Amino acid sequence: MSSDEKYDVDVTVVGAGPVGLLLAAELALSGASVQILERRAEPDEAVKAQSINVPTAEALDRRGLLPSGGGRVGGTRLTGHFAGMVLDPDLVDWADPDFAAHTAAGGARMLPQPRLEALLADHVARLGVPVRRGVEVTSLEDTGDGVIVGTTAGTVRARWLVGCDGGHSTVRRLAGIDFPGTDPELTGYQAVVDIADPSPLADGWAWSSRGAYRYGPQPGRVATLEFGDPPADRSTAVTLEEVQSSLRRVSGTDVTLTALRATPTRWTDNTRQAATYRSGRVLLAGDAAHVHPPFGGQGLNLGAGDAMNLGWKLGAVVAGWAPDGLLDTYDAERRPVGAWVMDWTRAQIGVLRGDAKSAALRGVVGDLLSTREGATYAVKKISGVAQRIDLPADSPGHPLIGRFVPDLWLGDGSRLADHGHGGGFLLLDRTLDGALGRLAVAWGGRVNRVIDGDATSAPAGVLVRPDGVVAWAADVVDAAAVAGCEAVLRRWAGVPS
Ligand SMILES: Cc1cc2nc3c(=O)[nH]c(=O)nc-3n(C[C@H](O)[C@H](O)[C@H](O)COP(=O)(O)OP(=O)(O)OC[C@H]3O[C@@H](n4cnc5c(N)ncnc54)[C@H](O)[C@@H]3O)c2cc1C
Repeated sequence: MSSDEKYDVDVTVVGAGPVGLLLAAELALSGASVQILERRAEPDEAVKAQSINVPTAEALDRRGLLPSGGGRVGGTRLTGHFAGMVLDPDLVDWADPDFAAHTAAGGARMLPQPRLEALLADHVARLGVPVRRGVEVTSLEDTGDGVIVGTTAGTVRARWLVGCDGGHSTVRRLAGIDFPGTDPELTGYQAVVDIADPSPLADGWAWSSRGAYRYGPQPGRVATLEFGDPPADRSTAVTLEEVQSSLRRVSGTDVTLTALRATPTRWTDNTRQAATYRSGRVLLAGDAAHVHPPFGGQGLNLGAGDAMNLGWKLGAVVAGWAPDGLLDTYDAERRPVGAWVMDWTRAQIGVLRGDAKSAALRGVVGDLLSTREGATYAVKKISGVAQRIDLPADSPGHPLIGRFVPDLWLGDGSRLADHGHGGGFLLLDRTLDGALGRLAVAWGGRVNRVIDGDATSAPAGVLVRPDGVVAWAADVVDAAAVAGCEAVLRRWAGVPS
């Protein structure tokens, strides 16, 4: 029940996809009452994301949720691809400081979306968040101090509503939020199938004048993409015949598919970003806020980043300690990341079109990606290790500010990430006199003080936001540094309680 009897709940999250589940968990950890409304009666088992990037793996790690097993496939590190050009792990400079700082959680790794959703569903269940399945949101009214949500199972009153309801978001439409972007020019399919005789198919990615297809890497997994008008009705279920026709056209073979092994998916390169991530008491996260083709495996990671960024901020607003303007930083910080992903996928369309100019461009880009610098650049982008948020320059010059916190081992053998399972800020204090820890006492349970006896390691002090972003850091903690840390604490964690 909400802290205010006028409402059933503090926050209603629409959609129990990966983003809705993660967001609801973060809200619950910050003390908000939250429920999820999901129109599907059962979890979605469709073939979508297969892997997670470094920030997503580390977010799960900080909550104690990351399954064991590192980010290696057949003994090599996961790199990804650009427009089907697979990035050679032997070319990548793994000693680059951006990679070297983020190895503890095992780096990017295979984690199929249904498995991720199952582990997040267990997490929200443990946190006591109800997931009301078979309930579809059909209307909403923002009253200024709350949202009245109409559903197929009656009315829900919430102080806040977050649409995590996917690319065709009803919440976005009902809130009147524009969705500008670029129109689709290709259609793709992903499926896991039985094939009568797969020998005519090339292993890996292959291009033709009509588009491209990939066979593998898992047995029976096929992906196709074809340029041309998008299908007239994108809401109908994908059939075996539809996948087979596409594969035949694009591969120039007459392969026969005999069975579907998992629910196949159809997608386009429709690429759009919501004009705003917030309208009054309604917010958007995940695919509801941005859509783009799945090239390079970014969509789920982008949405997970939204959820981590928004969860604690909206939780702070609900709890009443949010500093002025905190919620507005959600759009300001996440919009540039979304815009980058959209352009990264658009750039791949440019080299995938079947015409001679695009084939020539593919050759040039392929040559660049076959260099150490090119492969390292692309894998840094795809894996998310180089992501940085523009934060106000409170600690000028410290290279960690705005980055996701790197691996930090403590004197007792634990890692800083081990102290984040319950959410909240983390303040690492390695000073001999415990000055930072003493400072943070005033913020009570909002800030977890992690006192490390290892006074010889740098940085000497780090303040990590609940989403894993470093807000402040110093290698030497003197009186000025303590004052700087206090200012940053007030900026993000509000007035001391
Ligand atoms: C073929 C394909 C391959 C992909 N590959 C990758 C990849 O390799 N890597 C990657 O990172 N991403 C990939 N993605 C993208 C990734 O799957 C999405 O970005 C991710 O699912 C977005 O999560 P979400 O929670 O925002 O939305 P969704 O997963 O779409 O979940 C939205 C939920 O909201 C529910 N809902 C919708 N409307 C309502 C309503 N009115 N009321 C109640 N509930 C509602 C839906 O039933 C659904 O459960 C791929 C996507 C596709 C289609």
